[in-house]
Amino acid sequence: MQELSLVVPCFNEEKTLSFFIKEVEKVSEKMEVEIVYYLVNDGSTDQTLSVLRELAQVNPRIRYLSFSRHFGKEAALLAGLKAAKGEFVTVMDADLQDPPDLLPEMFRLICEGTYDVIGTRRSGRKGEPPIRSWFAEVFYKLINNISETKMVDGARDFRLMKRQVVDAILELKEINRFSKGLFNWVGFKITYLSYENYKRVAGETSWSFWSLFKYSLEGIINFSEAPLNIATFIGIISCLISFFTMIYYFTINLIWDNPVPGWTSTACIILFIGGLQLFCLGIIGKYLGKIFLETKRRPVYLIKEKNFD
Ligand code: UDP
Ligand code: MG
Repeated sequence: MQELSLVVPCFNEEKTLSFFIKEVEKVSEKMEVEIVYYLVNDGSTDQTLSVLRELAQVNPRIRYLSFSRHFGKEAALLAGLKAAKGEFVTVMDADLQDPPDLLPEMFRLICEGTYDVIGTRRSGRKGEPPIRSWFAEVFYKLINNISETKMVDGARDFRLMKRQVVDAILELKEINRFSKGLFNWVGFKITYLSYENYKRVAGETSWSFWSLFKYSLEGIINFSEAPLNIATFIGIISCLISFFTMIYYFTINLIWDNPVPGWTSTACIILFIGGLQLFCLGIIGKYLGKIFLETKRRPVYLIKEKNFD
């Protein structure tokens, strides 16, 4: 039988994991494919690792690997995708917010052969703070305007991919990974299934507002040069403005000969230009920082323990 690999990043999921496995097992009975789990413990501080060990003992189709420390969801996804051997690969969350009930339908669709990827998207953002939904909306509008890689609002990481697509994603060797972008960057034919938003079964989300904000900045910096262009644009405009003000004050001084007043305006202009320069330097610094991190070629994660080769 063909293998369907389930890649699941787990960070402090001791409470959800057994629910998750139970639900997926229920669904898997309806599918003519062997589901193999690749559970990646992303340096959890709770009992996730021992839960993984126990689960793996009763179910030979459960494979886990555990990081030496917390490396983040992106790293966990990468490790899981690398480990997955299946002809088909699914990425999903451990908290059942990605409903396993969709799997049979997704699998059926991919077997039809028209599509290489079956993605999912939430039709609403029920149960989420309104301010968070608003920021998400702004982010998607922004990124789709300034980046050539399009990202679909509400699209989850939950997706079923053919081997070929996974290999393409693994070809991308960058260290700063923004999966939502990478998944789209590789292209291939994709269709989306919609579903209602579900609440976590247990545990708590590990994304604070601040971490989401940083995550969206990652997306923008990694997939767009627009901020650099904006910085250049602002630089040019402010140069022009200061050039004309210079001429203006110069002529005024020639005509009326008044040396002392004008100090204020000069100070204002200096401050203004200084501020702009700092702003632009900040943007350039962001990109430079990325380059710095990339050039170090550090591994994205380190594995401490795993139960398979
Ligand atoms: N996760 C992870 N590392 C992290 C944060 C999250 O591996 O640093 C995993 C987490 O265990 C879950 C998935 O990523 O399986 C989604 O996380 P969460 O439910 O907290 O995010 P949300 O659904 O709120 O976006
Ligand atoms: Mg979740």
